[in-house]
Amino acid sequence: MQVFKEKELLKQSLSINKLAGNTIGLVPTMGALHEGHLYLVKEALKSCDQVVVSIFVNPTQFDNPEDLEKYPRNLEKDINLLQNISEEIIVFTPNANELYGDLIISEHFDFDGLDIVMEGKHRTGHFDGVGTVVKLLFEAVEPNKAFFGEKDYQQLQIIRKLTEIENIPVEIVGCPILREESGLARSSRNERLNDLQREKAAFIFETLKETKTLFGTKSANYINDWVEQQFRNYPFLELEYFEISDAKTLKKLTEKREGETYRAFIAAYAGDIRLIDNLALNN
Ligand code: AMP
Repeated sequence: MQVFKEKELLKQSLSINKLAGNTIGLVPTMGALHEGHLYLVKEALKSCDQVVVSIFVNPTQFDNPEDLEKYPRNLEKDINLLQNISEEIIVFTPNANELYGDLIISEHFDFDGLDIVMEGKHRTGHFDGVGTVVKLLFEAVEPNKAFFGEKDYQQLQIIRKLTEIENIPVEIVGCPILREESGLARSSRNERLNDLQREKAAFIFETLKETKTLFGTKSANYINDWVEQQFRNYPFLELEYFEISDAKTLKKLTEKREGETYRAFIAAYAGDIRLIDNLALNN
C-alpha cells in the first residue's frame, strides 16, 4: 500500500490515474480508524477506481488544546486496517506544515448560517478549521467524489456548502452512521471512554430514538424540555445541547412544516469526553 506524506509525491502518483480517466475518491479522516471510517472507505471503493484516505489530525478545528493533544493517534494500526480492506488504497498523511505551509491558520468562510448553530456555537472557529482543511485536501487530491459520515451531519452540510461557494467540482457523498451494538455512534473518542462510560453513553441514542417517537405528536418545545429532564436525571452524562433542526438549513425548529425533513442532534459529555450523535426524525 502506498503511504504519502508529501503533496507533490501524492500528486505524481495520482496523475497516472487522472490520465487514465479513473474516478478518484477521497475519504478524509483524523485517524484512529474504526468501523465507521472503514464503512466510508468501502463505499468509496465500490464507486471509485482509486481511493485516497487522508489521515490528519487538523489543529485548526480544535478550539480546546487539551482535546487536540488527547486526540487518539495510531498510524500503524490505521494503515493495517486499511491494508486489510485493500492494498490499492492510497494513504495521505501529511504533517501540518506540509498541508498548510508556514502559517497554520483557518480561512474564514461564509457558510450562510450553517456554522453558527450547534457545533459552531459551542466550538468557536471549528467550521472555518474544517472548511480550510477540507479545501486543502481537495486541492491536494482533486477527487471526483468525497465521502463524509452523517455522524457529523452539520459538517456534511457545511462541506456541501463549501463546494458550492468555492466552486469545487467534487461530488459529496453522505454515508449513514455506524453504531456499536449498544447503539452508541462509533467514534475515535469512544476509545477514551472507560467500560462504564461506554455502556452508559448508549443513553444518547436511546434518547434520540424516544425523540423520534415523540416527534409524531409533540411540539419541539415539549421534546426539548423532556430531553433536558432526561439528562438531568441521568448522572453519567452532561448534556451540552439538544436541538431539533431543519435537515437542510439546520435552523432550529419552531414550527413543523409539511414536506420538510427534520433531525435531532445531541452533544453530551461523559467525563471530559465530548460525544455527538443525531437522528432523522421524519424520513
Ligand atoms: P473523523 O476522523 O472523526 O474526522 O471522521 C472522518 C469521517 O468519518 C467523517 O466524515 C465522519 O463523519 C465519519 N465518521 C466518523 N464516525 C462515523 C460513524 N460512526 N459512522 C459513519 N461515519 C463516521
